[in-house]
Parts: sequence; structure tokens; C-alpha cells
Amino acid sequence: MKYISTRNKTSKALTSAEAILQGLADDGGLLVPESIPKVKPKDIAALVNMRYEDRAVEILKLFLTDYTTDELKECAELAYDWFDIHDRTRLAIISNKPADAKKIEANKNNVRAILELWHGPTSAFKDMALQMLPQLMRVALKKTGESHNILILVATSGDTGKAALAGFADVPQTKIMVFYPDGGVSKIQRLQMVTQHGKNVNVTALKGNFDDCQNGVKKIFNDEEIAKKLESANVKLSSANSINWGRLVPQIVYYFSAYADLIDNEEINNGDLVNITVPTGNFGNILAAYYAKRMGLPVNKLICASNINNILTDFFNTGVYDRNRSFFKTITPSMDILISSNLERLLYHETGDPSYIKDLMDKLNTTGKYEISADLKKKLSKLFYADYAGENETKETIGHMLKDMNYLIDTHTAVAMSVANKYIQSTKDTKPMIIASTASAYKFAPAVLTAIGEDISKLDEFAQLDKLNKISNVAIPQGLAGLKTAEVLHTDVCESAEMAERVLTFAKK
Ligand SMILES: *Cc1c(COP(=O)(O)O)cnc(C)c1O
Repeated sequence: MKYISTRNKTSKALTSAEAILQGLADDGGLLVPESIPKVKPKDIAALVNMRYEDRAVEILKLFLTDYTTDELKECAELAYDWFDIHDRTRLAIISNKPADAKKIEANKNNVRAILELWHGPTSAFKDMALQMLPQLMRVALKKTGESHNILILVATSGDTGKAALAGFADVPQTKIMVFYPDGGVSKIQRLQMVTQHGKNVNVTALKGNFDDCQNGVKKIFNDEEIAKKLESANVKLSSANSINWGRLVPQIVYYFSAYADLIDNEEINNGDLVNITVPTGNFGNILAAYYAKRMGLPVNKLICASNINNILTDFFNTGVYDRNRSFFKTITPSMDILISSNLERLLYHETGDPSYIKDLMDKLNTTGKYEISADLKKKLSKLFYADYAGENETKETIGHMLKDMNYLIDTHTAVAMSVANKYIQSTKDTKPMIIASTASAYKFAPAVLTAIGEDISKLDEFAQLDKLNKISNVAIPQGLAGLKTAEVLHTDVCESAEMAERVLTFAKK
């Protein structure tokens, strides 16, 4: 299996190891597999009695054909070695009689399975990918004979930084350095980062906001002087952002895994169609579900759930992608995005026409907007349903789920749940529904507590966790509970003008 650019037919095809080390294609496009492998019903049946790690190997080996099965096994064991819990993901079957059962015909099919993707070290679904990417990179360095050390540079507004730190900590031949805005992340997010263990990690607070972090990191990536100095220290820069194929491919696994669990639970028979709802930001998670469908997982509709930054809802419903619009800060910050980078991969796979994609992306760059052909729009409408949830709907859904279903969800999951309900009501489609749950409610405790009517003005961060614990009876995740007593290991602070120097100093360490 080779990897090619979404924007250029003639660019050199890469192996998966090369694609994972390189990140972006040379021409600015995204790297995609040149074909999509197929999975048969018997292959899905074989997954049912496997552990998550082994399911991962079965799916990954179809895409990463230059990795040996033993290498993939080792990657999966190291990536998903979490605490002492048994399940990497868990399916919560909330009800086959939802509160609106009167409106829709209740039947055995009407299952809602919440796919909990947040049992990893940082309590968010990004762990599913960011625990695996460093392992895939480590093996890719060996395979390609790369002798440089790789320094991963990350600018974070809170969550990605910790997930990347946790993934890369003590991974051989790599270092990771994270810049976060001083005073611009929540206390819990800051504690998660500054208590990170590992000989190869650095966490630095930048005097500035998130944009300053991001601009500073971008400048360092594009600076040839710095690259030369790094070269003399035998270091190359790389990033862990969500357009890397090594971050996307591990996400395909959990959709197969969820389907296998539904068979195992006797909620479905192998071959039954299911729907999948995903709370979407950069379009990575739902794109993974799309790959699973194209590979042969029996999926009916992919339901793209947005918050009030609903650029994707408009795109699927009108065929126009237009980022010239207001930007809102919401209680679902991980979905506050106006450029969903991974959409480019979908458009490529549905057209197979790189010059068409290049044209659309050039338009997006120059005018902030593009419109797809009527033919392409029709194709996408068959695959996707898109809608969004407003802030109040999101809050009400959290309250309703806790009160009526005795199930605690975070704000992002609540967006997905609201949109899944809208889909079921408007289409009367009662096929089993998998809903991706992307964060533990404890990660967004202030918003969740406020949504259910609690006054949090007198509670500090840890009192908030305890309060949510009392209300819900759901255990506080180990990674968060331990923060109260964890030792602070990183106290570096710097100005924008000092960033490059800090990077060089850490690179040489
Ligand atoms: C990153 C994130 C999302 C959005 O996922 P994409 O792959 O960017 O679409 C949704 N919810 C949470 C909690 C996230 O961290």
C-alpha cells in the first residue's frame, strides 16, 4: 500500500512509514492511501473474540503493509497499556426505549450504543490516536534508516498538548516540547501538562495567547537558520497534528471494535446496518468512520454533529464550504473549528481527482470559500447526514441523560447525542446507533456541572470533580484524580522572542 497526495497525481508515492514521518505531502496536500482495503464479513466475525490490541493489529496491517505483524503487535501493546483497566473502549448501551419512544416505533433495533473513547491516560479520545502515533513513528524511524532524533513541537490550547506528551514520553529517538499560553488554559489542563513524566519532554508556558503559541511554532518550522542549527545537533522537527496518517489510521480500529462488541453483546447480527454519529471538529474522527464504511463495515449513515460553529452542517446541506463567518467560543471547545482539514481526504476519495481538489483548496485559501459540484454533493448526501446542536440543547441533553438515563456525558458527547436524536426523529430510522463519546465528563466538569444546574462559584477544580462524583456515582478517572498530589516538574516560562532559543536548548539536551 502506497500513499499519495490529494492534490497531485504525479507526486512520489510513499510507504506508510515515510508518510507517517513526513506528515504532509510535499505539495501541501494530505497523504492518502492509493486504495481502500476491503474487509469481509468473516474478517469482522473473527474480531469478536479478540482483545482491542489484536483487533488493532488486524485493521492496521491492511494499511501499514510495510510494517511486520510483530512490529504492529508491539506497537499496539505499548500504545494501549493503560492503568489496570480491562477495556480500551467500552460500549454503554443506554436504552432501547429512548424518552421519545412514543414518537418513533420502539423495537429491538432501536439501540443506542455510546462508544466511550476516553478511558486512556488523558481522559479524551485523542489518546486513542496519540498513544499509537509515537509507536508507529518509532518503528518508522528504524525502517527508513532515519538517524536524526525527532523533536515534536506542539502549540496547544489545552488538550492536545497533554495527549501528545503522554504518547511521546520516553519513546526512543523522539523528544517532545509543548508550548501553552500562560494563564490561558484551565488549572486542570495546566496540571496535566506540568506534571508529565519522561526524560524527553519539555513543557513551557508562553507569555501570550494560543495564537502566539501557534504562530511561534509555525515560524520555527519555517526557519532555515534554525533547521541548520538543529541539524548540527542531529535533530529534525516534526508535528503530531491530526492530518498525519499515523493519527488517523488508529481511529478506524475502534469503529470495527464497536461493531464487534455489538455482535458480542447480541445487540446485532453480523451484517446488520448501523448508523454512526460523531461530534466533529477537524473531521478526523468521522473520516475514520468513513474509511471503515468504505472497507466494508456495514454502516448506513455517517452523522456529522457540529456545535454552533456549524460550517460542516452548511457544507453538507448546501455544497458550499464558507469560512467567512463569525466564530463562537462554546462549551465544546474541541469543536470550535472553522477549517476542518481532514475534509480534503473525503473529497479526494469521492472524486479521485487531485486537480479538482487542488482547485477547491486554492479557492479556500484565497477566498475562504468553495462550492462542490452537484454530482459530488449528491454522493456525499447518500453517505452523510449533518446537523448541529445549540448551546442550550447541549446542556439540556446532559441533564436529560443524567436524570432519565442515569448516564453522565460530557459536552461534546452531548452535541452528538442531540444530533443523533434529531436524525432519528426526522428520518424515523431506528437502526442501531453508535455514538462516539469523545471525552470524560470530568474533563469538562465546570460546563457539565453548570449544565445540570449546579452552582460552582464556590468550588475549586478538585471540589468540582468531587461534586460531579457525588452526583453521578461515576469514578473520577485515575489520571485526573492523581493531579491533586502529583509533583510539578515543569516551570519554564518564556516570551515569544525566546521560543526559538528554548527549542534549540532543549534539542541539544
Ligand atoms: C478533538 C475532539 C473532537 C473533534 O474531533 P475531530 O477528529 O477533530 O473531528 C471532539 N471532541 C473532543 C472531546 C475532542 O477532543
